[in-house]
Amino acid sequence: MTQVTIDGMDTQLDFQDWECVCGYVNEGIDENCMRCSRDRATGIAELNARKEAELVAAQKARLEEEQRQQAEAVEREKAQENRVARLTGLEFNGDAKDFLGPFLLIMLLSFVTFGIYSFWGAAKMMDWVVGNCTLAGRRLRFTGTGVDVLVLYLVQGILVSITFGIYTPWAVANITKWFTGKVEYAD
Ligand SMILES: [Zn+2]
Repeated sequence: MTQVTIDGMDTQLDFQDWECVCGYVNEGIDENCMRCSRDRATGIAELNARKEAELVAAQKARLEEEQRQQAEAVEREKAQENRVARLTGLEFNGDAKDFLGPFLLIMLLSFVTFGIYSFWGAAKMMDWVVGNCTLAGRRLRFTGTGVDVLVLYLVQGILVSITFGIYTPWAVANITKWFTGKVEYAD
């Protein structure tokens, strides 16, 4: 505000340029915007309101970005923990389609040998399963043979039969114990 004297009267005039909400910068003498004809008070008030809203929006965006980054950091940490858990645990990475060819051959050979080959087929399948497992990041291998499987299933099968199935829990335990005993580190 500038104090001036016009015709002996003290008058307050604002000679400062003012920017209107429409973006036009008016001269201090203009009481209405030269572009959109809003009056000075409205043009300035609306501009200030818009700047305030932009500030609030920017603040909100910053907060949201911070929260997003925090969530990302938590995700990364969780992924890292999972990776460590996988590295220290048992992991299977076999691809089923890799075993389709061997499987079809096992089916064919089992058919032409009246089922005898299925024991060797079972050994090959365990070989594939274990060979695609890692324990604590180390590769594993299966050392059982078709003969092993044949003897195991014959003995356990006979025991289950002659006990009318009562022996099944022991058979399951024996087969599992045998299986885990035939797994070793490949390197
Ligand atoms: Zn304007």
